[in-house]
Amino acid sequence: MNTWVAQAIRTIEADFNRSSDTHLIPLPLPAFPGLSLYFKDESTHPTGSLKHRLARSLFLYALCNGWIRAGTPIIEASSGSTAVSEAYFARLLGLPFIAVMPRGTSEEKIRAITFYGGQCHLVDDPSTIYDESRRLAETLGGHYMDQFTYAERATDWRGNNNIADTIFHQMALEPHPEPAWIVCGAGTGGTSATFGRYVRYQKQKTRVCVVDPENSVFHESYYSGRTDCRCQGSSGVEGIGRPRVEPSFIASVVDRVIRVPNTATYAALHFLEEVLGRKCGGSTGTNFYGVCTLISEMVAAGESGSLVTLICDDGNRYLNSYFDPAWLRAQGHDISPWLDCYRRFYDEGVWVPVA
Ligand SMILES: *Cc1c(COP(=O)(O)O)cnc(C)c1O
Repeated sequence: MNTWVAQAIRTIEADFNRSSDTHLIPLPLPAFPGLSLYFKDESTHPTGSLKHRLARSLFLYALCNGWIRAGTPIIEASSGSTAVSEAYFARLLGLPFIAVMPRGTSEEKIRAITFYGGQCHLVDDPSTIYDESRRLAETLGGHYMDQFTYAERATDWRGNNNIADTIFHQMALEPHPEPAWIVCGAGTGGTSATFGRYVRYQKQKTRVCVVDPENSVFHESYYSGRTDCRCQGSSGVEGIGRPRVEPSFIASVVDRVIRVPNTATYAALHFLEEVLGRKCGGSTGTNFYGVCTLISEMVAAGESGSLVTLICDDGNRYLNSYFDPAWLRAQGHDISPWLDCYRRFYDEGVWVPVA
């Protein structure tokens, strides 16, 4: 085997070896005896999001496939976080890295990519990032990493310390170790595919619920069975929601998809800051709306059990957007009715979404 490739694989494994597991944080629910809720905090990876796992897997997959050699430029289409994590690994391996991203991507993420020595190539129309990445890779003789195609297969879904495996180990001593639901968003769809396959392989009763923001095709595609759905522009929640049905979204292992209004997502972030004492990234707000929906259904059905969801990244990445009252106002989002709704849910156990 090529010695550079062998050394590169060793370098990535060494990064893993230096890392510790991420925390599973309980949120007590006094208004719901018999139910427990946990947040898997993926913001503590070295590059600040669950995309650290994905980037590691994609690099290993590409190296073992013979797609990356010494000096190969790496190109990726990304809405931000994947590019941050891949820039980190590209630098570890001494490879040039270019991220193709929509122009609306947050300043914080662009700064993080350039911090790790990556270049940002911004495009006006988010739906062009794929073709533009392919074109750049061809022109430069580079490798287009293509997270949206390979996320579902680069991760070992059977276990091997994937995100599902670690959650089930961390749940072992909890009152309900086998979650009734795992709730996550879909960007590539890779995370929901890993959860869905893992719970089937492990013969768990856990169901997987995907939450989908406004201006994204996953909800429509899931319930219509169509894979040619399209929409324009970005979803409004960085990391989740896509303008096309990504190849890594494996609908057959998802049990449910819930559509979430963006105002409800942003309000949930502010509410979670009150009860968790910390700022979570945008997709955590979307997750929490899904959790509220499922909990109210479980209560109505007289069920007890646990739910697990994710903190995919930290809210401090979004101080100038979701956490900025002026930004919310300018975008036309009044979060106060939703804040009341979440407080009532938490304090009184009553879930009445804003009409
Ligand atoms: C990528 C991402 C997700 C969704 O994960 P996928 O595995 O790509 O579906 C959720 N939240 C954030 C912040 C992300 O960056």
